[in-house]
Amino acid sequence: MKELIKKITEIYSPSGREDEIREFIKSEIKDHVDEIKIDKLGNLIAIKKGTSDKTVLFDGHMDEIGLVVTHITDNGFLKVDAVGGQNPLNLVGTQFQFNGNIGVVGIEGETTKELRENHSHLNLDVLFVDIGAKTREEAEKMAPIGTFGTYATGFHDLGDHLVSKAMDDRIACATMIQSIKEMDKPKNNVIFAFTVQEEVGIVGASVASYDYDVDMAIAIDVTKALDTPKAIKRMNMKLGDGPCIKIKDNATISDRNVVEFIKNAAIEEKIPYQFEVLFGGGTNAMGYQRTKSGIPVCTISIATRYIHSPHEMVSYEDVKNTVKMIKAISNKEM
Ligand SMILES: [Zn+2]
Repeated sequence: MKELIKKITEIYSPSGREDEIREFIKSEIKDHVDEIKIDKLGNLIAIKKGTSDKTVLFDGHMDEIGLVVTHITDNGFLKVDAVGGQNPLNLVGTQFQFNGNIGVVGIEGETTKELRENHSHLNLDVLFVDIGAKTREEAEKMAPIGTFGTYATGFHDLGDHLVSKAMDDRIACATMIQSIKEMDKPKNNVIFAFTVQEEVGIVGASVASYDYDVDMAIAIDVTKALDTPKAIKRMNMKLGDGPCIKIKDNATISDRNVVEFIKNAAIEEKIPYQFEVLFGGGTNAMGYQRTKSGIPVCTISIATRYIHSPHEMVSYEDVKNTVKMIKAISNKEM
């Protein structure tokens, strides 16, 4: 599965520009599902039919955070804005790609005092991207205003720990693809929704289930791991302790019955799990919870270090256990 994770995280597809990732996922799963369709917003929805009349939906968002070109200077540097939640601290010195053109993020400052101030109050006004163009005309040909970019960093296998850009949320997409491939006929009908534009406001998930009668919806996403030196102590999630069953975050309180259902599925299949209470944050579970007349929801999270940085880190054991959990839930009587 590591090969799949490498391929899927290295694909360039920021929010609103999910074409490449959608094509990749479609080609991976099309021979293993009963139905597949793309809705008007670009969500990719695949169905595996079960033997019962109950339906569970799993969601993984296809998009990743990025930057968009807003202005080009006379000497060919790009000024940018954020697509999704970008922390400027993660940007300085990193590589981005715009239309396949590699760029380096630099910082402005005409005096050492100004440079120091810009560093300590970092924001996108004082950052620029250098794509190697010497003039505005040259840059406009390579990355005109409105061009979206993503981190240009790649996958690294550190053994159990895996590092790449866009683990958020391609790691969920990878677990769903793997589950689809490993699953024979499940007990429940299973809808796999690979959704668009989570990072800019839970857009795809707000509509993805609209045409279906869904009994429970489970978002698969990343969550903060607090197991690094001097991390916030008031939260509990760690790499390697199993998938996290979310109790709440800032957007959603998980449905109690769905939490119990997932927990029992894990216990029955001897899959390790952690409970997650996240302060801050939110997932696509919010979109499903508030669709139509309401769907009971929960999120299964994969603990991740350095979220929204160019190098997001997960545990491969957690990833494999998430695949087991998806299969256990799909086959458990509702
Ligand atoms: Zn995210």
